[in-house]
Amino acid sequence: MRPEILNPLFGETQSLKGVGKALAKPLEKLRLMRIKDLLYHQPSYWMQRKRVKELDEIDVGETIIVQVTPVDYRSGGPRSPLRVNATDDAGNYISLTFFGRNPGWPKKLLPLGEPKIISGKLERYGDELQIVHPDQILEPEQVDSIALLEPIYPLSDGLGNVRMRQLTAQALALAPELPEWVEPSQLAAKKWKSWKDSITALHSAEGEGANDRLAYDEVFANQLAFMLVRASNRSKKGISIEGDGRLRDQLKLPFELTNAQKRCIGEIEGDLAQTAPMLRLLQGDVGSGKTLVALMALLSAVEAGYQGAFLAPTEILARQHYEGLQKLLNGLPVNLAILTGRDKGKIREATLMGLMDGSIDILIGTHAIFQEQVRYKNLAVAVIDEQHKFGVSQRLMLTQKAERTPHLLAMTATPIPRTLTLSQYGEMDVSRIDELPPGRQTIDTSVVSGARMADIVDGLARHIAAGGQAYWVCPLVEESEKSDLAAAEERAASLQTRFGDQVGLVHGRMKGPEKDLVMGRFQRDEIKILVATTVIEVGVDVPNASLMIIEAADRFGLAQLHQLRGRVGRGSVKSNCLLIRGDTLSETARARLSLMRETNDGFRIAEEDLRLRGAGELLGTRQSGDAGFRVATPAQVNELIGPATDDARLLLDRDGGLDSERGQAARIALYLFERDWGVSLLRSG
Ligand code: ADP
Ligand code: MG
Repeated sequence: MRPEILNPLFGETQSLKGVGKALAKPLEKLRLMRIKDLLYHQPSYWMQRKRVKELDEIDVGETIIVQVTPVDYRSGGPRSPLRVNATDDAGNYISLTFFGRNPGWPKKLLPLGEPKIISGKLERYGDELQIVHPDQILEPEQVDSIALLEPIYPLSDGLGNVRMRQLTAQALALAPELPEWVEPSQLAAKKWKSWKDSITALHSAEGEGANDRLAYDEVFANQLAFMLVRASNRSKKGISIEGDGRLRDQLKLPFELTNAQKRCIGEIEGDLAQTAPMLRLLQGDVGSGKTLVALMALLSAVEAGYQGAFLAPTEILARQHYEGLQKLLNGLPVNLAILTGRDKGKIREATLMGLMDGSIDILIGTHAIFQEQVRYKNLAVAVIDEQHKFGVSQRLMLTQKAERTPHLLAMTATPIPRTLTLSQYGEMDVSRIDELPPGRQTIDTSVVSGARMADIVDGLARHIAAGGQAYWVCPLVEESEKSDLAAAEERAASLQTRFGDQVGLVHGRMKGPEKDLVMGRFQRDEIKILVATTVIEVGVDVPNASLMIIEAADRFGLAQLHQLRGRVGRGSVKSNCLLIRGDTLSETARARLSLMRETNDGFRIAEEDLRLRGAGELLGTRQSGDAGFRVATPAQVNELIGPATDDARLLLDRDGGLDSERGQAARIALYLFERDWGVSLLRSG
């Protein structure tokens, strides 16, 4: 149902001129599969070139365009670079240097005695001037074809800047004029241009400010979509639940609930009593006791004669929850069942039957519990654990499952700043567990250089000798799961030479049962050291593991580091976290790591991280998962969320059906940013 006007933007990049099979991979890597992706692929910087007649020391450090004539070739052997000596018109020397390439290639491009136009960054090498790998080598008459200001795009192997510019130009030619969805007064106040002009400007040197408008569009569409969900939810008929407490009263807890837990339970009970379905996010740091809060909600449903469902992101977590809850519910008349992708055949059939006839009260499982074939008799409360592992649309699908919309409780341990909560969970009310159960040990965090690996391993040996267990998390390698794996395997192998079969390895490529086997052995203390890629990130509980070692910690996001760290400190012994850093650290990276050392407060870490990131880091730091912003950076989201939310609210107040001219334009924005789930709600509701 996408508006036709957007069709060219959703066309495949593959359909552009000159895009063959060879480009498929780099395009996919950069996530540039559609025309609109190319349009929003903004230059990481602008390269400025200076046209000069003569080579001059003064221009060292600048990118210059100059005419030179090659005079001879020098090469110090197969392993050293090929140097092409050349002179400008005044006879000044320069060396054009080519590393590691087939020397025949530069020689062909730069035949001796033939003047050429070259462009590149002028450097000093010893007492000569040089340009390493000129970015352009052309005939003298082509000099004007070299841009004095050139956008440099984020690139990938096999897709260079020249080709990227060609693709972008083709994409721009396809871009339609879109009707305006930004509030006119806002547009005027910010001096923003139309969408088409802004997207065009993004790729041209005068494009300053264009990105703000485009980022605003995205945040606006996002907030608008959330508000539509909220509105549609309010109009839905759900199930008002008021449990009599008979099950909850029988729970034998070995501890007192924290005040924060009590408050959150109260907020949830208030929601459950309404007929409008609950949409609530429960935020709470690792170990803050979210599971228990969820259990209370599920038991309320069962007390009132309904069913509950509990969705975990992984097999391991589903089983862990199942076992944990079974223990808690021991002796209570509550029928608990588990369903994961691994359950097949008779057992699965029996579970499906039990759900349909209502003999199962609470179902725990992975996403398998919301598949087509799974029918509930009367599902009233659905809990999603570790929500950040799921997307918005999964959240929505879940509530559309039942005839009467169940109450939804989403839980996350990922501490995110308040403003970003609004951008990621904008349709939900939020409860925060902002207090840990008493007696929790704080985790001592230290940062060590990777150069001290031998000491680190010795420390690990002492820890094991004293009866402890440890996690060892391996570096996160960008965009390549394969190399994550290689790094983890290598580390495991090297630790095995010292610790033998006390070392286990889990990684994301392992199949469920394999993974569970290793995790199980770690839980039973049969393995002392668990080497892992980030698969252990969420929820796994091994109280005896009190040492967390994270390799190349500076490559992780702070939220992720915080979560990883939260794997320890679950038992009664003092826990430690060792962050191994690389040798060269940026200022920001340094600040981020020392923040980890300073505090265990996830919410504070999140706020500071946003501030630090806002201050600097450009690309490649965008968090995956729920955020779903491609244009707006976290800092921009932070800044724009206020006005964008107000604007969206205002629009819906005036035109709840999005029928007006501007409303129609706003629908287009929803589709453009793939928030069309918002629109579909509009139609049905
Ligand atoms: P998370 O919020 O990370 O999901 P869990 O629900 O797994 O945390 O709880 C972590 C541990 O804390 C569990 O072992 C749980 O039994 C325990 N716990 C929960 N609430 C309390 C409390 N009020 N006092 C003491 N321990 C608690
Ligand atoms: Mg949990």
